[in-house]
Amino acid sequence: MISALPSYDEAAALVADYAARLAMLRPSVQSVSLASAAGRVLARPLCADQDQPPFARSTRDGFACRAAEASKHVPLRLVGATRAGDAPAGPLPRGAAWEIMTGAPVPKGADAVMMIEHVTIDHAKVHGQQVQLLPSRKLKPGESIVAKGAQACKGDELLPVGTVIHSAQIALAATCGYSTLQVFARPRVAILATGDELVPVDTLPAPGQIRNSNAPMLAAMVAAAGGEAWVLPTAADTAEALDNALAQTAEAEMLILSGGVSAGKFDLVEPALARAGARFRFTGVRIQPGKPLVFGHLLPKRSSTAPGVRRAQRPFFGLPGNPVSSAVTFLLFAAPVLAALAGSRVTGPRFALARLSADTDKHGKPGLTRFLPATCTFGGASNLPEVNLVSWQGSGDIAALARSNCFLVVPEETPSLEAGAIVRILLN
Ligand code: AMP
Ligand code: MG
Repeated sequence: MISALPSYDEAAALVADYAARLAMLRPSVQSVSLASAAGRVLARPLCADQDQPPFARSTRDGFACRAAEASKHVPLRLVGATRAGDAPAGPLPRGAAWEIMTGAPVPKGADAVMMIEHVTIDHAKVHGQQVQLLPSRKLKPGESIVAKGAQACKGDELLPVGTVIHSAQIALAATCGYSTLQVFARPRVAILATGDELVPVDTLPAPGQIRNSNAPMLAAMVAAAGGEAWVLPTAADTAEALDNALAQTAEAEMLILSGGVSAGKFDLVEPALARAGARFRFTGVRIQPGKPLVFGHLLPKRSSTAPGVRRAQRPFFGLPGNPVSSAVTFLLFAAPVLAALAGSRVTGPRFALARLSADTDKHGKPGLTRFLPATCTFGGASNLPEVNLVSWQGSGDIAALARSNCFLVVPEETPSLEAGAIVRILLN
């Protein structure tokens, strides 16, 4: 009965609660070079090895000076020059200015930099060159200078444990002198596609067969969520094949199964998980697509555990086999659990607001939150992203999935949405 199943919000809360408890168990730590750190999760805080910036730095090409003197619009003698890379110079005499380049240290005594575009330069004087602030300009102390230590002081924690490392974090690590980073080991995630109809990608399917597209898709999703994908051979729709396949997964920290969780005669995954000792947290969610999704955990077999060592639970998700269902349910539920297992501080699915371009259909089943493949255009003329449904032939339509870049969320109490509505989208 549908009403006995949790709603999307209830299932999401269960998963978030489970993920929060997983996040307290810290994975093991390894060291990686900066070049291979993208996508990894920081296992030790990243700290400033010196003040940032390490010296008062000019943010402009121009002339370092005293703001009060320059603002009187008197000619200032040019007495020196500092290029980026030069050691800090000075002191700056009274009534003088100092040529300076972007990124160069400001000479002692100067408290501002006049932009080169804001001065007149007089080259012909007997006293040497002089510069003068344009009469229309005023200069405040501190202008065009970033003070030493303004961004960070030596020893400050700049990134906490659990930060996912992207290009900006790599830049910060490089600035602070880290050529390697301490990161959490990636959790090993077993991916088990089930189904008699599946053949490998390099095989021409016979009539009635299809290529296994979920395994490579889920492997990519696992990698993107911070795990190490371990794709197992496809399992046939028999109790024996499923039992054997599950027995191979003892070394995995998480299991993603695809197919075999619906109500059909050959949907045997749930009983196989039960035989393997699974504790189920839910065996369906009021969403479309993806309603038959199952979530729970397996305990390690006693024999696989060294005496005195308590091994962690192994969460599993049994995803419905239709590719769009697999993709949506992974993003909504499996990705947050995996991110927590990987030690990441940010684990939730990513939702955003967008403006709907055209009416949605009115065919949604009442009581189900729908997640429909859509394309979102960011950076349009209006200030909100614009979202448009992709036309699709149901949850087996991989081409539609591949043309989409997000999912439109249709709330369970809403049969359809109208053009112009502000709606939620699930980002992938
Ligand atoms: P199931 O969840 O096993 O009932 O499968 C639902 C639909 O998804 C069926 O049309 C299957 O053929 C298809 N399907 C199941 N597993 C996969 C897979 N690994 N790759 C592509 N399609 C699949
Ligand atoms: Mg099947």
